[in-house]
Formats: sequence, structure tokens, C-alpha cells
Amino acid sequence: MTEFFDTHAHLDFPDFAADLPEVVARATAAGITRIVTIGTTLEGSRRAVEIAERFPSVFAAVGVHPGHVDESPDEIRGALSALAAHPKVVAIGEIGLDFFRRPGEAVPDPGADALNRAKQVSLFRQQLEVAAAAGLNVVVHTRDSFRPTLDVFRPYSSAVRGVFHCWVGTVPELEEVTALGSLASFTGIATFKNGGNVRAAAAAAGKGTFMLETDCPFLAPVPHRGKRCEPSHVAELAPLIAATRGCSLEALSAETCATARSFFPRMG
Ligand SMILES: [Zn+2]
Repeated sequence: MTEFFDTHAHLDFPDFAADLPEVVARATAAGITRIVTIGTTLEGSRRAVEIAERFPSVFAAVGVHPGHVDESPDEIRGALSALAAHPKVVAIGEIGLDFFRRPGEAVPDPGADALNRAKQVSLFRQQLEVAAAAGLNVVVHTRDSFRPTLDVFRPYSSAVRGVFHCWVGTVPELEEVTALGSLASFTGIATFKNGGNVRAAAAAAGKGTFMLETDCPFLAPVPHRGKRCEPSHVAELAPLIAATRGCSLEALSAETCATARSFFPRMG
């Protein structure tokens, strides 16, 4: 069996509450030998650490997602540093900026919206500082905000590498990210009919510049599309990425696992 890692899962989400041991066992059986479970709030990050303590193959990232800044304290450096000291915490994440709006959606309260975006930037910076101080890399979420995300990230990029997860950007954008020493990671979107952008990026990505992930419970790859996604589904994503790059499954395994081990140095 060919080994792969799921570098981005949300095992603390309620979707997995009923059958987490089976989910992790199915991943192992499918050759997914490492899973990074990612926090999206301080409370969720604590749960991610607990899950990492329960399963040898699971590691944790801790952080506050830009979609959860409204319910977060204004100052999180102390709490996050304490979580980051745990030996199974391998990154700070997920962190970043999310300026997504549904098409045609009006801004109900421009004042509140501006405050929300300012808080997103403030918490993103605080978490980059914590990562730099802890010697950890960061898992970056960006949606409709690539340019502002890169602007906030760039001053930290000599101290911290980022994985721009769930990559859906263009090839020139990918080149900007990798020029900073940072990475992309590809989800099951690569298997979707409308995932051409992701396949183009996967084909163009230089050696050692990308990883594989599920973002489960979201984004199940074909043929599971629309169902709950889980880490074992990396086994369906990997052959498509290998075919897109014109390499063997074994070569893709060696490359992506080595990239992940160097990006998450505490993972081993
Ligand atoms: Zn995520």
C-alpha cells in the first residue's frame, strides 16, 4: 500500500463525534498514516489537541479561523502560545482572512463589517507572531482575499512558512506563494468537473511545493462527492494528482510525505 498523509482535517467537528475511532482506523487501512487535525477556535483547538493525544497517527494545529473572529477574544497570544507548547501541536492554524460574500449579498452593516475585517487582520498577525516565536509554520485560509492575505503574511515569511490550504488560485499566484518558501495543498476539488484550476496548479507545482489534504468533513472527492468527507479519501485524491503530474503514485507519496515532514517538523 502507498502511504499518504491528510494534512488538513477537522476531526473535532460534530460530524465525527459518533465514529471517530472507525474514521481513524479506515484512514490507516487506506494507507493514510498521518492526519493533521486543525482547530478553528480556541475551544476547537483544545479538542484537536485531545484528539491528537488519543491517536498516535493524529497531530494537531491550533488557531482561530477568520470566520470565527467575532466570538474570539481580542487578544489570543497567551492562550495560543500555551496550546502551541504541546508536543503533538505541529502548526498554528487555521488562520488567515476570509472576505467571501455570496453573489449579490448586500453588506447589512458596513461598520460592523469593517470592524470584523480589522479583527481578522489583528488576529492573523497575532497568530503569525505566536508561530514565529514557537518555531512553527502556519496553515493559511484565504477566501476572496488572496492579495490582502499575502500582504499581511509577507513580513513574517522569513520566519514562518505557510501552507495556503484548499488551493483554488491561479498558477502565477502559486508561484508568488512558493517564491516565499510557502506551499499549497490540494483537496478533493481536484477531482470535481469544475476543478480545472486546481488540476492546472497541481500540474505546474514545483517539486516539494505542495501537500495533499481533505479539509474533511467538507469537499469529499469524487466518487464520494456530497457525502461526509474523511481522511481515508486522500487515497482517492492521490491517483488523480499523480496522473495530473505524470508521475507514479510511489513518487507522489515520497514527495508529498517528505514535504509534509519538513513543513511540520514535530510530526516525525
Ligand atoms: Zn479547514
